Amino acid sequence: MSTPIRQQYLDLRKRYPGTILFFRLGDFYETFDDDAKLVAQELQITLTSKPMGKDLRVPLAGVPYHSIDQHVAKLVARGYRVAICEQLADPSEVKGLVPRDVVRIVTAGTVTSEASLEAGRANYLGALVHRGRDAALALADVTTGEVRLVPGDAAAVELGRSPVAELLVEDLADAAGAAMPVVLRPLLSDMAVDAALAEQFGEHAREALVPGPAAAAALAHLLAYLRETFPAALGSLQRIRAESGADELLVDERTLRNLDVFPGPGRTSSLLAVIDRCRTAMGTRLLRHWLAHPLRDPARLAERHDAVGWAAANPIERERVRSVLRAIPDLARLAGRVGARTATPRDLAALRDGLRAVLDLGALLSSCGLPPLLEGALRGLSGAAEPLATLDAALAEDPPAAFDDGGVIRPGFSPEIDSLHALTRDARSFLLGLERLERERTGIKSLKVGHNKVFGYYIEVSAANVALVPPHYQRRQTLVGAERYVTEELKEHEARLVGARERLVELERQAFASLLETLAAGLAALQSVADAVALVDVVLALGEVAADQGYTRPVFTEGDLVIRGGRHPVVEAAVGPGRFVPNDCVLDSETQILVVTGPNMSGKSTFLRQVALIALMAQAGSFVPAAEARLPLFDRIFSRIGAHDDLAAGQSTFMVEMVETAQILHRATPQSLVILDEVGRGTSTYDGMAIARSVIEFLHNRKEGAARTLFATHYHELTALEGILPRVRNAHVAVREEGAEIVFEHRVVPGPADRSYGIHVARLAGLPRAVVARAEHLLAELEAERAAHGRSSAAHARNGSAPEPAFQPPLFGGPSPVEAALAALDVDGMTPIEAIQKLYELRAMV
Ligand code: ADP
Repeated sequence: MSTPIRQQYLDLRKRYPGTILFFRLGDFYETFDDDAKLVAQELQITLTSKPMGKDLRVPLAGVPYHSIDQHVAKLVARGYRVAICEQLADPSEVKGLVPRDVVRIVTAGTVTSEASLEAGRANYLGALVHRGRDAALALADVTTGEVRLVPGDAAAVELGRSPVAELLVEDLADAAGAAMPVVLRPLLSDMAVDAALAEQFGEHAREALVPGPAAAAALAHLLAYLRETFPAALGSLQRIRAESGADELLVDERTLRNLDVFPGPGRTSSLLAVIDRCRTAMGTRLLRHWLAHPLRDPARLAERHDAVGWAAANPIERERVRSVLRAIPDLARLAGRVGARTATPRDLAALRDGLRAVLDLGALLSSCGLPPLLEGALRGLSGAAEPLATLDAALAEDPPAAFDDGGVIRPGFSPEIDSLHALTRDARSFLLGLERLERERTGIKSLKVGHNKVFGYYIEVSAANVALVPPHYQRRQTLVGAERYVTEELKEHEARLVGARERLVELERQAFASLLETLAAGLAALQSVADAVALVDVVLALGEVAADQGYTRPVFTEGDLVIRGGRHPVVEAAVGPGRFVPNDCVLDSETQILVVTGPNMSGKSTFLRQVALIALMAQAGSFVPAAEARLPLFDRIFSRIGAHDDLAAGQSTFMVEMVETAQILHRATPQSLVILDEVGRGTSTYDGMAIARSVIEFLHNRKEGAARTLFATHYHELTALEGILPRVRNAHVAVREEGAEIVFEHRVVPGPADRSYGIHVARLAGLPRAVVARAEHLLAELEAERAAHGRSSAAHARNGSAPEPAFQPPLFGGPSPVEAALAALDVDGMTPIEAIQKLYELRAMV
């Protein structure tokens, strides 16, 4: 026979499969049975056992209620789902079994505790759904109430580049390759979709707000899932933002990674780290969004650049505004808690202080002559006044963390609360005055009035004075050397105090709840205030970096890309001020594909990435690290960067490289920017060279026109393409020889590099001297051999002249002419172009 509480637990356990169930028991959240064993192991806490019926002991592991957040955070981070069961009534007020139920299931996409979240990063629950050929991704951040819909082709890209912590799908094929936890959900019928949207957003929301059936279904999945896991969060989901992706520069996840736009594992720095001067978490989140979603709309970009330019040019205003921003807490997440009705008194105090600072910010900005984007933000800030007035009227100046002792509500807000306050104050001061009174009455100088949780108020008399205790004292507790008593008078006042306090707490809770309701009714305005603060923050931060780092305003043109004195923002920050060598880049009608050669470590990758980063920053709305930048508005940036361990990782990585390259070749348009770094490196030299060349040819010869392309390679042979394909040009990174050493100048100059400096680099890298000497010897031998064969690769490539036939007429029984020719080939000494040439000759012989 198990106890009733065990039965209550088992019933809940059955209702929430696939979760770890934390069961509130007094001051602890307990887990039992297998959950307990798992939790003890995962959290490194003690596994014990508890009697829960006759002859029944069950494994138990629990955590104190106040530390639940950090424990749940750990479990969720490891991929578990955690069901939180609360006591639904005060145990001291119910006879028998306390009612309990699961109020929330915490999952990776629905966590709200700070222990699980990064301040400057959104945390999305996503749903990716197909309806026919239409796809859509819906995203909700339950910490702020933000909802985004991304329909069409952009959906898959968005999944990769947004911080999606958990993904819902109807078909596991939609989640192939997804890095986050995935939840398979049943297919939703059209009727169910309509009902879910109408319930949350009103009858006509679907037509008005949601683009297409896939987006509607994706959104409905989010709502249904939240209803199961965290229904309170639905209160904060009010605004839907539909994004078409049409007016954006699409950068996929891989390119964001290749360009080190965001911090991530295995990355020492990032663009975000270098340019994020935001003073608020809201600003950082918005900056992330801008960087992941650059624009193509010149009007919107001009607005951003005007605003950033204003901030860059007005250092005094900028500093004043930024010092106010520093005082603004994360209003978006506070608003999220208001919407979910989970905000605490301290949260609302932070919200109030933040809103006060917002009004200061508004006052400050309105005294400046602002560009339009900031004018708009200023209007958004004015929404702070109303919720601030509401909070000022109701909330105490410095509310306690909990309701236990009152003091949450401002004096003067409610006469009833004020009078209960007075009552508790009086009763408490009476009890405190009682000590003096009783000392006088009894003559016991050491008599004390005290309080503890179990017995409440008592009068304590030391053992020596017990004889002086008057008869109406009632003994309650005997200690070593002292006795504790109560009196009727004491009990009466205590009861009055306790009663008044309970009533006070009850009334304050009610007043607080209605305060939350009032605020929640104006949630949209609150969210707009947070948006406006984020916008001001980002603009000023970008203005600050621009001024600080000498960035310039980019100019958008219809045609050529011209960058003068461009720098790589992240490498520049790493090598230190003044040590980065600026470089120009021109891609025009004569140069659609620039082949960049140069030894390893000379700066090829840096150059490629810097061009792509400048384009991305410009279209995100930032100024750019260059003396001058004239750029076309790109539709996509593609990149393929050979990882240094591609060779070691072998075939499968090469396959990945080719798949990525194939995608680029299929998708790049004449408006795209493509950077290809060492394509073909992942296979043998000839294979690699052949592939690299045909990739360039393909990009060059496309009928619709070539995407602007930068191609870095250490295959010298590819420089011959300049003479063959009209819109291919060579550039190389200059190196200077000083005696036996070489110096990397990091300067990109026209023309092909003239030789390979691999051995010099090997020496610089500290290869043993004997190895370097041997390599030099072998190189000299190879070069001599090549010379002896009379083959100059460049010459053949350019004039296409065939070498002399190098075989003798066959002898009887000997090798055939083709076999003889094959045997005579110096495969190692050939360029791919020569190899192809030779193949033609050989074929002509059979
Ligand atoms: P590659 O692609 O040719 O192997 P990288 O672009 O990786 O070379 O550059 C190697 C290193 O050289 C970088 O990490 C950086 O420290 C330095 N470097 C590259 N370009 C520059 C530059 N323009 N100015 C200063 N240092 C540079």
